[in-house]
Amino acid sequence: MSENHHHPHELSDGEVRARALESLLREKGILQGHVVDEVIDIYTNDIGPLNGARAIAKAWSDPDFKKRLMADATAAVGELGISGMEGEHLVAVENTDEVHHVIVCTLCSCYPWPVLGLPPRWYKDAPYRARVVREPRSVLAEFGTIVPPDKHVKVLDSNAEVRYFVIPQRPRGTEDMSEEQLAQLVTRDSMVGVTVLPDVTDKVAG
Ligand code: FE
Repeated sequence: MSENHHHPHELSDGEVRARALESLLREKGILQGHVVDEVIDIYTNDIGPLNGARAIAKAWSDPDFKKRLMADATAAVGELGISGMEGEHLVAVENTDEVHHVIVCTLCSCYPWPVLGLPPRWYKDAPYRARVVREPRSVLAEFGTIVPPDKHVKVLDSNAEVRYFVIPQRPRGTEDMSEEQLAQLVTRDSMVGVTVLPDVTDKVAG
């Protein structure tokens, strides 16, 4: 499935190479149908964000790890075996009762790949990139996130050198949860900062 939608930015070397390889593999009949789209989908929704979720769950559970994560995120996630391209200068920022962070790349689509996987399409689209800077509260509201008026909203602009990701606030009702259970609560969008994690209400214990 080819993508003909307009790209507002020039393709990076990596993107050009990826497209060239994909075209060649299709031409040779090695790649068929939606294989690449499916791989991208898995990487976008599964593998990538799960890495970030593990790091967040550990930060919630282990104050020393959180300190290291906030001091040098690339090194700290490396302790968990997480590394990779586009991840040399990861910076973790913490959402608190006082401040809500949301990330963007206003120039193109810089994104913390090793922790979040591939960026969702809306992250790369011009409307998000332009609007979240000008009217972050409105954009957040469109994601269902209403930030109280007395809470500061801080928009962080990633670039090739610095790639931010958000440590969301730990939901209430999770005090007894293990790191593994906590990791399952953490979503990609909460680490981009466009959503917050809902509190865990008392459900039937599983
Ligand atoms: Fe960028």
